[in-house]
Amino acid sequence: MRPLYVRVHARDNVAIIVNPEGLPAGSAFADGLTLAEFIPQAHKVALEDIGAGDPVIRYGEIIGRATRAIPRGSWVREELLSLPSAPALNQLPRATAVPPALPPIENITFDGYPNPDGTAGTRNILGITTTVQCVAPTVDYAVQRIKAELLPHYPNVDDVVAITHTYGCGVAIQAPGAAVPIRTIRNLALNPNLGESPLIVSLGCEKLQPARLFPQPPGLPVLPNDEPFVVRLQDQHGFQDMIVAILRFAEKRLEELNRRRRVPCPASQLTVGLQCGGSDAFSGVTANPAVGHAADLLVRAGATVLFSEVTEVRDAVHLLTPRAVNEEVALALIHEMAWYDEYLERGSADRSANPTPGNKRGGLANIVEKALGSVAKAGTSPLMGVSAPGERVTTKGLVFAATPASDFICGTLQLAAGMNLHVFTTGEGTPYGLAMAPVIKVSSRTALAERWPDLIDVDAGRIAMGQATIQDIGQEIFHLILEVASGRRKTWAETWKLHNAPALFNPGPVT
Ligand code: CA
Repeated sequence: MRPLYVRVHARDNVAIIVNPEGLPAGSAFADGLTLAEFIPQAHKVALEDIGAGDPVIRYGEIIGRATRAIPRGSWVREELLSLPSAPALNQLPRATAVPPALPPIENITFDGYPNPDGTAGTRNILGITTTVQCVAPTVDYAVQRIKAELLPHYPNVDDVVAITHTYGCGVAIQAPGAAVPIRTIRNLALNPNLGESPLIVSLGCEKLQPARLFPQPPGLPVLPNDEPFVVRLQDQHGFQDMIVAILRFAEKRLEELNRRRRVPCPASQLTVGLQCGGSDAFSGVTANPAVGHAADLLVRAGATVLFSEVTEVRDAVHLLTPRAVNEEVALALIHEMAWYDEYLERGSADRSANPTPGNKRGGLANIVEKALGSVAKAGTSPLMGVSAPGERVTTKGLVFAATPASDFICGTLQLAAGMNLHVFTTGEGTPYGLAMAPVIKVSSRTALAERWPDLIDVDAGRIAMGQATIQDIGQEIFHLILEVASGRRKTWAETWKLHNAPALFNPGPVT
């Protein structure tokens, strides 16, 4: 393979090496650039002489300043870059460059399970929610029994999922931060893929009482005879009785779910959550822009697209606030950034705590470079809404659902926001998956897709190799989303039942 690099923007003075084994000193590119030293794949090469203190530019933006002179053809390593300060939140342009609405694509449907509240499931799952961790092993035991003894009799139900977590007691339940985990547990239970009506298992004495989880209105989910869907373990006579009670409720619910059939649903009933994990320097060139193109197609079809991960948006926020559809949405985005700045500060950390050793091995020098690549997932449409962590999203179009960047917490909070399908991009690779929604995994490099052919659903690395365009892969992802949403295709994570446990975001105190 001839020496190849990718430059993203005409202003860039660095590019990334494409060749899988990296390139040795002396390698010459078609334009005459010659490498002064070995540079690994995905790492940056200086396209021109960069003086000490000069800006290093990628994606047309400053990702840092050179800590010493970097001659043309050299490896631009992490330690040669100083971290610029994050964009000041009080000086951001707000709704100043709202993109025109993209032309609609009419009549896109998927075969889903409509819910009474206007949402639809891409899967038909029995969910059992829990108010407190004390009940988790008991619920896990019951779910094993339900899967073995009951589920085979209800062939239209895809799965049974225990929504267990570490919250519910031993916490300052009145503290302002408590609102986040409480609404997350509530909204997880109401995820469209669970048919909007969960079973609830409570211990009895815990702080997070079922009535606090589902306050009036609408209150606790009820059976047709107005009996609430709650099993309280402290009311039962021993463990066997607890299991019998949970199985009895589960069977009633399975009967209802089993009567449902897939019907054509408009694309507006899709809520697709986007996330990246284990990113590398290719993520922002291949997988994330391809997902961004798919996001634009989804928005044009009328769907909701969620992007998240505050610490990976913070350094690119100046590119997003102008795209907000109005002043109010821009201010909401700024509010979520400010809230997170303070949250990190309370923990004596800042956004530079985000990148991992794998990110750096993959060529990402710092959080600025990572963020600029991450926001490519958001495509080009106007930003229509912003939600706080754990809130339910009802806005159509592109929405920023604020979450930490942690893969498990982000996925959990997107499920709470109403996500019924997840798209996950990765460079270094992770076998991540979710129990409550199908996860489509997109690799940023072909080498990863080849190494993990039974985990990666889409290889976006073909873009860097010149074998496909961003638009080609974006179209492929869009069609795969519709196939998976309709139950005609399973993702690899579904095939192997890779279910990362729900992980709550609890910014409140533990007692
Ligand atoms: Ca992530």
